[in-house]
Amino acid sequence: MNESYSINSAGINQSQHVSRLYSIQPIGCGLLHVESLISYVSRLATAHCVPTGLLVIKEIAPLINPKYGFSGESCGGVLNRIFANETSALNGFGNWAFGTVNAVEKLTCRTDISQLTLLNWKKVIFNRKLLKQQRAWCSFCFKESLDNSQSLYEPLSWSLEVLKLCPAHKTPLSNICPHCEKGNRPLSWYSKPGFCSKCRGWLGIDAYTYKVPNLKFKAGEDDEQLHCIKCVNDLLCMPPDSFSVKTKVSIASHLDHFLESLSRGKDSHLAQLLGTSVTQVRKWRKGQITPTLASLINICYKLQIDFPTLFEPICGEIIGKIYESEKKHKESSEKSVSYRPIKKATQKQKLVTSILETALLENPPPSVDDIAARLKYRNSSPLYVFAPEICKRVTQRHKIFLKEQQGKFKEQQGKFIREVLERFLGEYPPKSLENIASELGVKPRTLRSYERSLCKQISNNYSRFRTQKKDEKVEVLFEEMKQIAQSLYGKGIIPTPSRISPHMSSPGSILRLESRKKLEQFLQENEWF
Ligand SMILES: [Zn+2]
Ligand SMILES: [Zn+2]
Repeated sequence: MNESYSINSAGINQSQHVSRLYSIQPIGCGLLHVESLISYVSRLATAHCVPTGLLVIKEIAPLINPKYGFSGESCGGVLNRIFANETSALNGFGNWAFGTVNAVEKLTCRTDISQLTLLNWKKVIFNRKLLKQQRAWCSFCFKESLDNSQSLYEPLSWSLEVLKLCPAHKTPLSNICPHCEKGNRPLSWYSKPGFCSKCRGWLGIDAYTYKVPNLKFKAGEDDEQLHCIKCVNDLLCMPPDSFSVKTKVSIASHLDHFLESLSRGKDSHLAQLLGTSVTQVRKWRKGQITPTLASLINICYKLQIDFPTLFEPICGEIIGKIYESEKKHKESSEKSVSYRPIKKATQKQKLVTSILETALLENPPPSVDDIAARLKYRNSSPLYVFAPEICKRVTQRHKIFLKEQQGKFKEQQGKFIREVLERFLGEYPPKSLENIASELGVKPRTLRSYERSLCKQISNNYSRFRTQKKDEKVEVLFEEMKQIAQSLYGKGIIPTPSRISPHMSSPGSILRLESRKKLEQFLQENEWF
């Protein structure tokens, strides 16, 4: 690494400048699976065949601060001293991340390295509880990358404290090595995607053959985690200019808006709904503090809104204006108490109307009851009072949707029944339609309502089969009687049905009409009767 490199090959930037380190392409920029800065640095070290720690202290750290020079020590302790036990911060948006991004960009002649950190979020998200203090990984992802001969890397999302599931596999992220049973720091001397930095063992799912990682969550947590994945996806895919100082204002005004519509203006209601303290809610509303990422995600989950909506400054401003004008109005008409409820009702009506109008664009179309439940109304009557016409349209859309769903279901069921009946039709011995229906757990008439002609064929087949079986049985009985008659005659006894009957294997069967008729005919033919 004492010389500079410029290599023209796949994945390496063909920059005019000669970069000191290989200019490897970062993975997934602008996507949910965007690589983390630590992962990128580890891959860079692997490409140069040196331990990650060595690359960091020899090349990166001196560019962050010249006094972090290489002193000849080669252990993870140096890293922790440099980064003050906060190696996870390299993926975040503080000074460490900023310094490391600058250093790596200088060394690789790239300009996209900041996308591997949370630097873009600096203005909008609170630093507290943002990053995991331990390395977390998805063993399925490692295995899959290896099987598909893709580069092993670690997405930035895995390092977020809020995310406990792998966004790709929806399975809990692991943090204990199956070989040495130890956890890993986010950045270590031997950090390498796919491998334990302590024992350097493979971390793919096949390494967990004996110890399956704990893949269970408390009830309800799964749902929240799936919602969390969606929010993180939205966040990582949002263009960097979505995060402006206005965001704080828009989050505050969104909370105000919900306070008015859901909690009837009471902080305590909103605090209860969000599972937080009243003081917290007040501070958020006033824009005094920015909610943590976990709180933002929780707000979206509890208030059932899309994550990007929180960051929409225009919408936020409009709502803010509405709120401001309403506040002014309240102040001016504070004394005329009788007038206030009417105004408040109008405000609510506007809100409900706009929510119902938005619902008209939703797919699948919700029912009015669904929307009422979202707005925490006990039933849908207030919605019908506020906007009867729109409610009718919402209901109509929902009905059409239900009808379509029923149609689709019927079509699928019809196809299934046809396939099953065709299969039974080819089987021997054939089954009765009643038997088939009971096997399928339906009534024969249901089968007939879908496939009348197939059902008829099945019934005909079955009754032909029954007749054939009966004929065969009569023939067997007749053969037995014939032999007994001949034997009796041979002994000088005139065979009659009553004399034959006791010698038969089942004497009563001589009473059967068909076999009896045949026997009488036989006896007459031989003039024994
Ligand atoms: Zn995964
Ligand atoms: Zn290990």
